[in-house]
Amino acid sequence: MKMKKRFLLQMAAAILLFSGVYSCIEPDDEPVNGSKEEQVNDPDEEQVNDPNEEPNGNDIGTGMSLLDDADDPTGVLLDVKLTSAQWTKLTGSNTFYAELRTLSDSIYTRFEDNFDFIFFVLNTAKDDAIINALGFYGVNMNVSNAVTGLGLSTFKDPRWGSADKLKSVMFFPFADAIKNGPTLHELCHNWGANIVPTWDAEGKSYSSHWGISNAGGQLGGFKYVRNVSGNLYQASFRSDETNADGSFKYGGFGENANGGNGLPYSDIELYIMGMKSAQDLRDGSFRLDIYSGNSCNRDGDPSFWEGYFTSTTVTSYTIDKLIELKGARVPDASTSQKNFRILTVSLTPPSGTNYHSDIIAAMNWLSGETPAIAGIYNFSQATGGIGSLTVDRIKNSLKQ
Ligand SMILES: [Zn+2]
Repeated sequence: MKMKKRFLLQMAAAILLFSGVYSCIEPDDEPVNGSKEEQVNDPDEEQVNDPNEEPNGNDIGTGMSLLDDADDPTGVLLDVKLTSAQWTKLTGSNTFYAELRTLSDSIYTRFEDNFDFIFFVLNTAKDDAIINALGFYGVNMNVSNAVTGLGLSTFKDPRWGSADKLKSVMFFPFADAIKNGPTLHELCHNWGANIVPTWDAEGKSYSSHWGISNAGGQLGGFKYVRNVSGNLYQASFRSDETNADGSFKYGGFGENANGGNGLPYSDIELYIMGMKSAQDLRDGSFRLDIYSGNSCNRDGDPSFWEGYFTSTTVTSYTIDKLIELKGARVPDASTSQKNFRILTVSLTPPSGTNYHSDIIAAMNWLSGETPAIAGIYNFSQATGGIGSLTVDRIKNSLKQ
C-alpha cells in the first residue's frame, strides 16, 4: 500500500504535463530519420515472446535482442520487440506501469543485477497522440532508496526483478527524450524533491518539485526574484536583467521544470544527489526560499508566464536548517555514489521507423562518451563534472 502510494506520488511528481516549459527547448535539429536502418519487424521472423525459444545470434530470448556490433559498437542497447498487445499497454496511462514491471522482471532473468537505473524508451518519434494518452514526456518510478536525509524513507520494491541494485526505472515515450530531456529531470527524481514541502502558483501542495521557490533547477523553481509591491513578486529562471521600469526582461520560470536538458542541476539538487557537500552549500551562502500562500493569474495581467505571482509567506532554509529538520545526507558527498550504470531498453513497436541509432547516439552523449552538444547538458556537465554515467557494454552483464 505504501509502495502504491509512493508510486502515485512519484507519478504525479514526474508528469511534466503540458506545462509549456518544454516547448521552449525544442531543439533545432529534428530526429534523424532512421529509414536507412534495417526493418526491425520482419513478418517472417519467429514468434518473439516464446520463453522456450532457443536464443541464437543476438537474440537472447523472450523478445529481447542485442544489436550487431556495427550498429551498436559500444553495446548500449537492449531491444525488445513488442507485440501489438504490449504496445497497447505501454501507450496507455493505466497499463504502462504494470507492463514495464513485467518487462523489467523478465530482463533480470537474463541480466545480472548490476544496473542503477533502467531507461525504457519507446523506439518511435515524438508523437502527440502517445504523449497525450500517457500524459507525460517522461516518468520516474522509484524502486529502492537507501539514502537518508532527503525527506524520503528507505524502501525496496522487489517486484521489478532486482534484488538490490536498481534504484529507479524511467520511461520515455519517444526516442529524442534522451537527448533533449526530460532525462536529467527524471534522473533527479531518484532523489527528490521531497526535502521540504513545496507549493505551486495556486498555493496547492506540490510534491516532488520545487514549485514556487528559488531552487531554480531541473525540478522547477526560479533563480531571480524581485518584490514588486506588497505580496506581488516577479521571478525569472533565466536572467536578472531588467527593463527601464525595473521589471525582469526575461521573467518566467517553471513550477516543475525549466527546459528539458537545457540547464544544469541547481545546488540543492546537487546536494540531494550527493554531488555537493553541505560545506559546499555553506560556502556558497546557500538559502532555499519556499513561497506559500500563493496565487497567480496564469494568463492575466500581470501574468504568471512573465513570472508574476503573489505569496503571503516565504520560508527560508539554510543547509544546516535542512539537516536539522531531515538529518544529514547519508552517505554524504565524500562517500556518495557518483557513477551510475544504466541499462537502456528500446521498446520497438510492431511496425514503424527505427530510431535505434538516435537512441544509441543520445545515450553515448548523455554519458559523456561523445562530444558535447551546444545548448544542452549531459549528466557530467549538469553535475559540474562530478557525476558520471556508464551506459555501454551491457553484454558483460548477461547471465552466463
Ligand atoms: Zn518531474
